[in-house]
Amino acid sequence: MFAHVEDTIVALSSAAGMSPRGVIRLSGPRAIEIALAVFVPPPETLTGFRRHLGVARWEAEGVDIPAELYVFRAPRSYTRQEMAELHTIGSPPVLAGLLDAFLAAGARLAEPGEFTGRAFLAGAMDLAAAEGVAAMIHAGSDAQLRAAEQLLHGTLTRETGRWHGRLVDLLALVEASIDFVDEPIEFIAPAQAADEIASILDGLAEIRSRACPMERLDSRRRVALLGRPNVGKSTLFNRLTGLDRAICSPVPGTTRDVIAAPLALAGGELWLLDSAGIGEAVGEIDRLAQEFARDAARTADLILYVIDAEEAIASSEDVASWLPDATRVVCVVNKVDRITPESASFLSDRISALGVPVVLVSAATGSGCVALLEKLSSIFEQDVETVSRASIAMNARHRAALDGAISACSRARSLIEQHPRVAEVAELIALELREAAYHLGTIVGHVVTEEVLGRVFSRFCIGK
Ligand code: GDP
Repeated sequence: MFAHVEDTIVALSSAAGMSPRGVIRLSGPRAIEIALAVFVPPPETLTGFRRHLGVARWEAEGVDIPAELYVFRAPRSYTRQEMAELHTIGSPPVLAGLLDAFLAAGARLAEPGEFTGRAFLAGAMDLAAAEGVAAMIHAGSDAQLRAAEQLLHGTLTRETGRWHGRLVDLLALVEASIDFVDEPIEFIAPAQAADEIASILDGLAEIRSRACPMERLDSRRRVALLGRPNVGKSTLFNRLTGLDRAICSPVPGTTRDVIAAPLALAGGELWLLDSAGIGEAVGEIDRLAQEFARDAARTADLILYVIDAEEAIASSEDVASWLPDATRVVCVVNKVDRITPESASFLSDRISALGVPVVLVSAATGSGCVALLEKLSSIFEQDVETVSRASIAMNARHRAALDGAISACSRARSLIEQHPRVAEVAELIALELREAAYHLGTIVGHVVTEEVLGRVFSRFCIGK
């Protein structure tokens, strides 16, 4: 992957489709020369980092398109190579024509993530930071953005780097003992080795315990509307999303499939799911629809359990028996326009007493819907806090590497503890410490395989 760093690569770096501005990026030894194949007038000086005003002109197009050329001379560029960026109007045919002109002039189309891949290969950033760039591009919420920022700015690299250094120092002492197994020389006292490996293990375990899995932030939160038929789930779905997706009708059982729509909150977006009402199934389709609804509720991050206020007041049953047995539930008492304020507060008190958060709404009039959105925001804001404060954003690759390092260190510790002289088992200890250092090294990319690079950079889009 990215074997040919001597090629000059080109890609559209702005979003595809029509936009006020389009950016085409070039990186490689001939980047500036190729950019000048279409940019006029040629700048008088081509030093350092500079912006030049002019036009883009190429054969197939008879007109001059206003353009700016940004020149970044190696090594003061993102990739540490010669780089050029052409900023012009974001019209798809103009950008496609320019790309063709650059290809004709000798550039090659970049692979996904190839610019960042070159930055990594040139030592401009470590692998975790490159993963942070990809995560930032894909971030769909504040929580994801903060996690990506953390990776990009090296929190994980710094935290693991400290222990990697101590591990390598310990390894050096242990390896020195290997050659002197028959001599009375002791490079490291057993107690000292035991203490050191114990602190390394504690340090790594502490980092691992602060892991905030990035995949958990990757998917937008799913909030499922659940409740008996006809309580107003679809009306509420339409009201909250501002769409007219779900059919609302006094006839029970109108919603069959699970319908999802994005819901924008302060701090990010979530998916709101509407599904069939849960109750007595009439027929096969109804049974299936209810199964889908239960599935949606099971996999959701939060359930909004909707009850019909009028039905709850009239019923001889206790509403407590209606609520689902799930950990993250907010009870939405709907149709409060149909009951008296006294009855509404009676219901609210009864449900709150169970420890379940409750919001009173009328999907028909819209009353209480703002409070419901605020409730959702505040629930998911807590997740953002978890990322920013004590935790360290990590993806599955980082966690597996840390686990590998911790296991190898534990084995090294057992060896040290079981043998009075480090020198006797120095080779075995060194093997385990080397393995631990290898795993930590994979986090930042000191040691890296083609497969890992392929996996990391496949998450990028072309042009980054
Ligand atoms: P679902 O089966 O739970 O999805 O319920 P629907 O959204 O289809 O609503 C069932 C019926 O209740 C429809 O006739 C809606 O107009 C009515 N409805 C929904 N929300 C309210 C509300 O807040 N107040 C009143 N008065 N009627 C509502």
